[in-house]
Amino acid sequence: MNPEKFVRELESIFDSDAVLTSSEDLVAYGYDASRLQGIPLCVVFPSSSQQLCELFDRSVRYGIPVFPRGAGSGMTGAAVPLERGIVVSMERMNRIIDIDTENMTCEVEPGVVTGVLQAEVEKYGLFYPPDPSSLQFSTIGGNVATGAGGPRAVKYGVTRDYVMWLETVVPIGRVIKTGSKAIKSVVGYDLTRLLVGSEGTLGIFTRIGLRLIPAPDPSWLILVTFSSPHAAADLVCNILKSRFIPSALEFMDSSVLNIVDTSGIAIPPGTEAAILIEVDDPLFVRERVMKDIHHLCRIGGALSIEQARSDEEKARLWKLRRSISPALSKIRIGKINEDVAVPRKVLPDLVVRIRELSREVDLPIPVFGHAGDGNLHVNIMYDPKDPGERTRAQTAVSRLFEIVLNLGGTISGEHGVGIAKTPFVRKELSDDTLELMWKIKRAFDPRNILNPGKLFIPNHAFIGR
Ligand SMILES: Cc1cc2nc3c(=O)[nH]c(=O)nc-3n(C[C@H](O)[C@H](O)[C@H](O)COP(=O)(O)OP(=O)(O)OC[C@H]3O[C@@H](n4cnc5c(N)ncnc54)[C@H](O)[C@@H]3O)c2cc1C
Repeated sequence: MNPEKFVRELESIFDSDAVLTSSEDLVAYGYDASRLQGIPLCVVFPSSSQQLCELFDRSVRYGIPVFPRGAGSGMTGAAVPLERGIVVSMERMNRIIDIDTENMTCEVEPGVVTGVLQAEVEKYGLFYPPDPSSLQFSTIGGNVATGAGGPRAVKYGVTRDYVMWLETVVPIGRVIKTGSKAIKSVVGYDLTRLLVGSEGTLGIFTRIGLRLIPAPDPSWLILVTFSSPHAAADLVCNILKSRFIPSALEFMDSSVLNIVDTSGIAIPPGTEAAILIEVDDPLFVRERVMKDIHHLCRIGGALSIEQARSDEEKARLWKLRRSISPALSKIRIGKINEDVAVPRKVLPDLVVRIRELSREVDLPIPVFGHAGDGNLHVNIMYDPKDPGERTRAQTAVSRLFEIVLNLGGTISGEHGVGIAKTPFVRKELSDDTLELMWKIKRAFDPRNILNPGKLFIPNHAFIGR
């Protein structure tokens, strides 16, 4: 079908200001934080499920692909339009429909920004814990589609643990409702959990029901430094083994501590790694918990222990952790950011193996992340202009995934597969598993028009069957 004619048909479905076709807009909605880029045919901004049903009806009829999009902060290209299709930006469906304080639940549209929802529920003494570092701009719809998590996952879990029900428009042009407003529901297959983390390949969420919990007491923070990364990782295991569950347990190695602004923070000479511990237990048991954690730090060989209680002190320590990502470009311009995860007890082994890998490929590999979940951000830094470094960086990715899988882990704890990790999915999932996933995909999307090219790659033997 003639693309111009198709776009004109869309103008009969969407409001006049809800279809963008200028080249600037097509570029702006064609990439995400992975730096992968595509150019769509047009961008549309739905305001109802009905519009999406009509869109799917036409896209299926004319074979034009559809690419759902939240804020475009994904790290793997999952929202990038690989083919000339329609980018469906959910950013204008951004209403908080209801906050139910009695049931401690809320109902939102997918374009609500995560941090906005958190601030809103806090006004009622409630708490929505999932806290990806992108929470000031990423959307709840994107968080659900990627199963996003953050530092608090160690205690409170990830987005998946808070999704109660979903209203989803599927490519066969139907609106399905999965899950329940009741806390418990075991009727039928749990399609809600299947849809969470499906990276926009099965349907487009239009309403989301979330569980909330009572807001905890204001947290305290501790920064602990060590002369070896292994000792720092050991502390994480020892804290959890001692049955303390901090609300964050973040790891930073010396190469990241060397590039961030540490002024006003005591980092002793010889520091090779640090752990940031956030504790939000009720205030009446807090002193006792802190005393025990201090003890574990000391017997674990801590070089220094700095505690922060005031908002200002806490902000300083969190700033240190949150400023790592942007500061990495001081090491090299090229960065491959992997977010591998391993069972927690082998975290110290992973940290050691990454140091060995860095020496083996002769590239800096700074590491930081959510140690409490065994989930580390491993940054393979290289000079894009140096062909040798480029090749060694690719080798490092393959080697890293082998190490992680041998330790019983996963190639992605948070960011998902998108486009970037499709070549590696087979290292983790068997062909039988992938084929079954493909059959599920085809049940939702028989014509493969929804977010094609993500999760699966065309040369999987079963594609096309
Ligand atoms: C600085 C920075 C820090 C980050 N920190 C974290 C972190 O700590 N933890 C973490 O998990 N991630 C993190 N991320 C990655 C990213 O923010 C998350 O993956 C986030 O969930 C993506 O949300 P988004 O709204 O930007 O979605 P997008 O990037 O626009 O889309 C992501 C996926 O969701 C799909 N999608 C979006 N909306 C819908 C919908 N309504 N229905 C169906 N599918 C939809 C898209 O098709 C795509 O597959 C970070 C990214 C940046 C840039």
